[in-house]
Formats: sequence, structure tokens, C-alpha cells
Amino acid sequence: MSKFKSNILLIYTGGTIGMVKDADTGVLKSFDFENLLVNIPELKLLDCNIDTLSFKKPIDSSDMHPKYWIQIAEIIENNYDKFDGFVVLHGSDTMSYTSSVLSFMLENLAKPIIFTGSQLPIGDLRTDAKENLITSIQLASIQSHGKPVIKEVCLYFEYKLYRANRTTKINAEHFQAFASLNYPDLAESGVHLKINKDYLYKPNTKKTFKVHKELDKNIVLIKLFPGISKTVMESLMAIPNLKAIILETYGAGNCTTEKWFINILKESISKGIHIINVTQCSGGSVMMGHYETSDNLKKIGVISGKDITTEAAIGKLMYMLGQNITSKAFKTMYEASLRGEMS
Ligand code: ASP
Repeated sequence: MSKFKSNILLIYTGGTIGMVKDADTGVLKSFDFENLLVNIPELKLLDCNIDTLSFKKPIDSSDMHPKYWIQIAEIIENNYDKFDGFVVLHGSDTMSYTSSVLSFMLENLAKPIIFTGSQLPIGDLRTDAKENLITSIQLASIQSHGKPVIKEVCLYFEYKLYRANRTTKINAEHFQAFASLNYPDLAESGVHLKINKDYLYKPNTKKTFKVHKELDKNIVLIKLFPGISKTVMESLMAIPNLKAIILETYGAGNCTTEKWFINILKESISKGIHIINVTQCSGGSVMMGHYETSDNLKKIGVISGKDITTEAAIGKLMYMLGQNITSKAFKTMYEASLRGEMS
């Protein structure tokens, strides 16, 4: 491989970008990777070496699962020393979940991992796939003094590069499908590629790269709504082997002040179940104790998710539960930013 050009590994997991329409039903289905490459002859014009690797059976990202997260992490681990950067093609539906959890699984990352995909298949005349893919590869190739400039897991979509664990899919129709409401864009693609260097993650590059593959799925996500009943809450708390709950609360982390509700949560905490408070709002932060309606949560020891996205909260939780962290340390660690996922 060239010493001067960046070496990029393009990993194809599936998603609309490589899909084709079934001739009989008109339904979009995953297609093979070769087809995708045939549709982008421009890749040959890029000033970097590109190697490719595909999931044996590409998937629609709605079928994404922790077993595939481990597969992606292993591909990166096995190729980490050989490449300067990685671009992961992934369906947009669960791209924020996958890229967020990967940011936790890949500790002391010193190279770019850029997730991208598209809203229209690469073969479509009006496709957004080409720009997304080509710019992602260019971003992953940027070096300074022979070292990658970007050293974190990112998501690139429709002219913007985001920190992956700050993103949420906000639109199923627009080309601008993602937003990062609590953290500025890392780069913007216009006539020039403008990197906002001040916002890039600055890892301690002296530490050894480590891949964590233990993910614990014994969690539940509860979105509060006015009228949520005691029966519903009690049955959720009674889930066998439940280790943690992400509670999507209102506004700045608020919930009903009804006694039964707080008592149910208190009882779960006393059984060793971690409860994390995350806001239902797309932007802003949990501030427990700011209102009377969140003060009780603070008092019983609920963990603050601060301004984390629900997608990152899930990834961080599965990752941390897999680390055998003591109950005492869990709250302090969860409330700390591990990969720039919270302010
Ligand atoms: N359903 C597709 C997926 O997530 C949508 C996309 O790729 O944008 O795989």
C-alpha cells in the first residue's frame, strides 16, 4: 500500500445506498456490493487507496442488532493497523444507534470512522449517495503530519459531518436526515471542505486502542406520556434480569409527581437497577432538581443523562453494563462524558 496516499477501508453493511427495486413488487431490497461500486466510477478518481469489505448478507438497518455491532467492531479491530481511516456504509434508520455504540466500543480511537448512507439508492438518478460517499472518503483521508486529523466516530450526511454519538435521525424524507442539536457540526462540505477543528474530539493518542465487545441487552426504554399507568410501570419493572432503565422524561427531565410512580422507581433502584433520565426533547438537557417535578428523581438516585441523545444513552448503557462496573461507580461514570457524548 502507498505510504503517501491514505488507505481507506470501505465497509458495506447494507441500507438504501446499495438497494435495488424488486422488478415485480417495487419493494426496495439490499443488493450486493459489487453493484454499488459499479455505480460510482468516481471512486477511482479519489486521491487515496480504497479497499472494500462487505457483510456477507447486507441488511436493511432496521434489522440491526448488537451482534452486528460486534461484527463491525471486529472488522475495524482486524484492520486497524492496515488503514488510516474507515467509512461504514449503513442504512440511515438506525445509523445513529450503531455509530453511537461503536464510539463506546472503540476506546482510544486515533483514526476516523465515518458512517454514511443515503436516502435514495446509488442507482437512482437523483441520488444523494454519491456526494455522501465521496465526501466521507475524503474526510476519512485527511491527514496532517502523516496522522489522521479526525480521530473519532462520525456521521456524514448531506454536506455535514457530525460527532456520531450526538446525532438523531430527524427526517425520513429530506436529504438532510440527521441533526446534532446539542453539539456543533464537525465539518461542512461546500465549495471547500471546512473542518471545525476546535470541535473535533482530542483523544489521548498515547493510550492503546482497545475494542470492547461485551454488550448487555438487559435494558428497557420507557417513554413517559401523560396517563402512563401503574400497571404498565409495574410490569416493565418486573422484566426478568432487567439491569437498567432509560426513562425518557419531559422537558428538562421532569415526570409526574404521583407518589406511586416515584415509589416504583425507588424500589427498582433499591434492587440495583440503574435508572437513567434522558429528555424526550431533541435538544437541551436534563436538569434534575430544577423543577419540583424532577427533584424526587434526583433524591432517589436517578442518573442524569444530561444532554445525551437516546441513541447514545442506549449504546453507553449496553457498553457500561458489559464492563462489570460496581454499582457505586456506575452513576459517576455514566454522568461523565466518555467519548464526547454529553456536555
Ligand atoms: N430502511 C433503510 C435502512 O435503514 C433506510 C436507509 O438506508 O436510509 O437500511
